[in-house]
Amino acid sequence: MKELIIIGAGPAGLTAAIYGIRAGLDLILIERLSPGGQVVNTYEVENYPGFIDPIRGFELVSNMENQARRLGVEITSGEVVSVRKNGKSGVFSVQLADGPAQEARTVIAAAGAAYRRLNVPGVEEFVGRGVSFCATCDGAFFKDKTIAVIGGGNSALEEIHFLTNFAKKIYLIHRRNRLRGDKILQDRIFAGGKIVQYMDSVVESISGNKSVEKLNLKNLKTGEETILDVNGVFILIGFDANISFLPEEVISEEREVIVDMNMRTPLPGLFAAGDIRTGSKRQIVMAAADGATAAMEAYEYILGLT
Ligand code: FAD
Ligand code: NAP
Repeated sequence: MKELIIIGAGPAGLTAAIYGIRAGLDLILIERLSPGGQVVNTYEVENYPGFIDPIRGFELVSNMENQARRLGVEITSGEVVSVRKNGKSGVFSVQLADGPAQEARTVIAAAGAAYRRLNVPGVEEFVGRGVSFCATCDGAFFKDKTIAVIGGGNSALEEIHFLTNFAKKIYLIHRRNRLRGDKILQDRIFAGGKIVQYMDSVVESISGNKSVEKLNLKNLKTGEETILDVNGVFILIGFDANISFLPEEVISEEREVIVDMNMRTPLPGLFAAGDIRTGSKRQIVMAAADGATAAMEAYEYILGLT
């Protein structure tokens, strides 16, 4: 039996592994794809401290992975399909899609989240070339440019507020005639006079040559079609945390993992870190910090068992 099983080798899981192994824990890290998480597909990262110039996302997480491996972390390939705690022994059983269940005294769920995609022509083609899912990450690349934002929830409104620091004009496109996000956030974004709204509207396609140039919209009520000239499109329609393998008692109404400030879930011995947890700011530096906290707490928990 392991002392710690970490699920997911993104920045949260890799950092948890680095802290866990340095604390002397007997651990394994399980990853369903290649290590690195969402950062593998991020062209450049400019907001992770310690690098003067932007660093390729792939390089950043490869460094994290190599650091973990140098310290002796074993990364196992596999998809976790369930995590259950035995009420009597207090031992966790971590079931993989292929292969036997693994047992551990503690578990850190660091399986991340996925941005909701928009299934229209041009989205996948232009990811990283004008199409973005994260204003905090990419907003600074659109200084004095015209951009469009799809979505009307609180995340979209908060991100638009950030984008108003850079863009000269922002088209806000929402599929209904009322925004879902809070009134206070609406007032804040409209105060600057940079926003032009297209309500009851959906994206039909995104097009361009080397990067995004045009956005085709359709008004759902009138059927009218509009073509907007834009330099970028931010798709901010929510996230889905990767929680399917976890017990329901640790899942919030928003379908994220409930944690306290020490990354403890309501199930003792089970911790969560990174984008998967409630209140995450969904940034690499936060995921790494969560991973460190979770590993230190797992260590404390194991000390308490002896
Ligand atoms: P993830 O990175 O999502 O890693 C989770 C890992 O768990 C994945 O490798 C996944 O395969 C694995 N996994 C999931 N389910 C299972 C399972 N059942 N079994 C085994 N393994 C599993 N943040 C910044 O700070 N700066 C940026 O510039 C930036 N740019 C971004 C650009 C893009 C396009 C995207 C998508 C995100 C960007 N982010 C950026 C956000 C950042 O990538 C995330 O906040 C961060 O990766 C979260 O780390 P994590 O470890 O919690 O999760
Ligand atoms: P959300 O509340 O689910 O909003 C998603 C938005 O995207 C909605 O406006 C939705 O439209 C739209 N949308 C979803 N799928 C779409 C599609 N396929 N095509 C076009 N539009 C689509 O998600 P969120 O904004 O990420 O927020 C998640 C939770 O975190 C919420 O509870 C939110 O209140 C909370 N949060 C709070 C704060 C804060 O309090 N400051 C900040 C961020 C997030 P419809 O409105 O038509 O459904």
